[in-house]
Amino acid sequence: MKRILITGAAGFLGSHLCDRFIAEGYHVIGMDNLITGDLKNIEHLFKLDRFEFYHHDVTKFVHVPGELDYILHFASPASPIDYLKIPIQTLKVGSLGTHNLLGLARVKGARILIASTSEIYGDPLVHPQTEEYYGNVNTIGPRGVYDEAKRFQESITMAYHTFHNVETRIVRIFNTYGPRMRLNDGRVIPAFIGQALRGEDLTVFGDGSQTRSFCYVDDQVEGIYRLLLSDYHLPINIGNPDEISILDFAREIIKLTKSDQEIIFKDLPINDPLQRCPDITKAQTILGWQPKVGRSEGMMKTFEYFQKFSDTELLKEEHKDFSKFIY
Ligand code: UDP
Repeated sequence: MKRILITGAAGFLGSHLCDRFIAEGYHVIGMDNLITGDLKNIEHLFKLDRFEFYHHDVTKFVHVPGELDYILHFASPASPIDYLKIPIQTLKVGSLGTHNLLGLARVKGARILIASTSEIYGDPLVHPQTEEYYGNVNTIGPRGVYDEAKRFQESITMAYHTFHNVETRIVRIFNTYGPRMRLNDGRVIPAFIGQALRGEDLTVFGDGSQTRSFCYVDDQVEGIYRLLLSDYHLPINIGNPDEISILDFAREIIKLTKSDQEIIFKDLPINDPLQRCPDITKAQTILGWQPKVGRSEGMMKTFEYFQKFSDTELLKEEHKDFSKFIY
């Protein structure tokens, strides 16, 4: 039986990846320090013999007994609000954490896939973003702690590939959504859905003309799965190229949730990218992958997930008005 270590296992993407590799028959070792992850995302796996969990911070030396075939490094805060609250942990998990896991991959002879991001393109001047684009990042802006950690992560991963012959894979993840996102992470989808469920107005930052392209989590997981098992070691974009402005997206949410909320406008956060859309030609040609779930289907599933939250959960102060955090 193949053995895989998944860091960030209790997080949004990490927990869906644990499910996928369990379903594929793997022995899954989940690791998380639970700063932004939540055990309820993987609670259902604890009864399985093929699942183990280590409560561990990967910025400290990582030890896993026994053999390892694969490592997926998905531990990291991943929302602008988190970077603001825990900037140093964000820098450390992308840099020191990645270094530890590459070292582990080397001694175990394991193949390692690291989670990079469309944020390495910064506020992109090339549109849609191809893997060849080097990006436009403000190193000292509020997003710099994440963007630069992820850029360093790609560099050190390539260095382990060329210098130590470690088998490495790099996925550049574009905005991904679905069940198990955190209601209070400040990202636009849980923010808008939470507002709609509480009967509050939807907060659009700036004039809402900035664009994003949202990928449903099942599609993202399929792309990552295929990349891990491929023989392609250069970075590859995984995302849904169906681009929409945030203002139009807010209107879509109002329709979808059949709510009669108004849209209100708040200040645009510093360095908020004006446009983002993946060029997925490489994923299509090299992995035979493309997204299958459209926004209305994916958003409906996500909305249904959040609808199950209790009123007390939805009404918690920490889930409301993220504009107060905006720098
Ligand atoms: N956004 C918004 N209202 C909110 C939360 C976010 O208009 O309540 C905007 C945000 O300014 C950005 C877009 O939605 O332009 C996506 O934000 P998110 O934090 O989800 O992801 P990222 O900016 O990292 O792509």
